[in-house]
Amino acid sequence: MVAQRNQPFRAEHLGSLLRPTELLKTRTAFEAGRASAEELKKEEDEAVKIAVDMQKKLGYRGVSDGEYRRGVFWGSFFQELEGMTEVQNPPLELFRTYVPDIAGFLEKGGPGQSCLCTGHIKHTGKSTLIDEYEYTKSLVDADRAGEVKLTMISPVWYHLRYREGKAYPTDVYANDEEYFAAIAEAYRTELDILYKAGVRNIQIDDPNFAYFCSEAMIEGWEADKSNKRTLDELLDVYIKCYNDCLSQHKDKIHFGLHICRGNFRGSRHFSEGGYDRIASKLLKELDVSTYYLEYDTPRAGSFEPLAQLPINKNVVLGVISSKFSELEDKSAVKERIYAAADVMAKGAGQTREQALDRVFLSPQCGFASHQEGNAIVWQDMENKLRLVREIADELWPGQP
Ligand SMILES: [Zn+2]
Repeated sequence: MVAQRNQPFRAEHLGSLLRPTELLKTRTAFEAGRASAEELKKEEDEAVKIAVDMQKKLGYRGVSDGEYRRGVFWGSFFQELEGMTEVQNPPLELFRTYVPDIAGFLEKGGPGQSCLCTGHIKHTGKSTLIDEYEYTKSLVDADRAGEVKLTMISPVWYHLRYREGKAYPTDVYANDEEYFAAIAEAYRTELDILYKAGVRNIQIDDPNFAYFCSEAMIEGWEADKSNKRTLDELLDVYIKCYNDCLSQHKDKIHFGLHICRGNFRGSRHFSEGGYDRIASKLLKELDVSTYYLEYDTPRAGSFEPLAQLPINKNVVLGVISSKFSELEDKSAVKERIYAAADVMAKGAGQTREQALDRVFLSPQCGFASHQEGNAIVWQDMENKLRLVREIADELWPGQP
């Protein structure tokens, strides 16, 4: 008899999956005006079905649509809000150039596009995520509809990158508090729509939090005298924004937070540094149940911050790399999982066994945060997902 449990599941992945070549081709054709929206949707539907079948075959329960209807992981939530405008080749003086992903884009000549608040922010009442969920839901058993994983962009995504006073027009919002209150209201409207459709499993992707751990970012922040807040104070503001976003649904939907270190074309990443600087606040004060943390390389630091994970919260350990095809050694992975559990046990006054009950396993990041995907092939991705499943089965036999 298989144990029944709600999300997270012992074997998890972070949502984005490699796109089949046909889908990439059709999207390119669509963007060039050579394919219709119907043709693109048909190709997406077929590709999502293949991806969902693969996940089910491998024994995954928190299945996703691979983010196949998005070009990039952040999707179009912000772009579709009233008051938010997509800008092409935005002027560089808008940006904090020391924020790691902006610094990364600068190497390539600057951020080609961004999204900026240009007026009062308001949800239109139409969700850009609902169709992704509805179709994936149609591919799983009805009683598992709530297990389908939907990824969402961080509510603070379009703030950190912009210099002080540049994230919104100051005649629209007098300060960050007013801006974030508007974002939170839009986020709650979105969650309402999703909840009513049956969504019960949301993973929020947030690279910004990882930037708070980056030495280069911290130095840049301190050198920038236009900043009115310290990074510590900004972290408090961000956590409050999150909690305001999730307040009405936190007991009804499983929320996980993925602190992302970047996953760009060619398997590159953007930021380094352990979670130590942010762990206490982020683990204790943010109203999510589960943290999906990257722990694939030494740049993520030690497991020590996990000592602060409250006893009612979970961690999904990203100790398998989604960036490289080489398979991790099973026993070495298990040793790392035990090491993490021991730190958690010590911090929470639990036994290793009890702590292991709050531990789950996944690749450290998605396989394709951008549609081009990581520098691996489909078979590599399946091998990684199979490895995660096998290790989870050995550590937690019979648990989904
Ligand atoms: Zn990531």
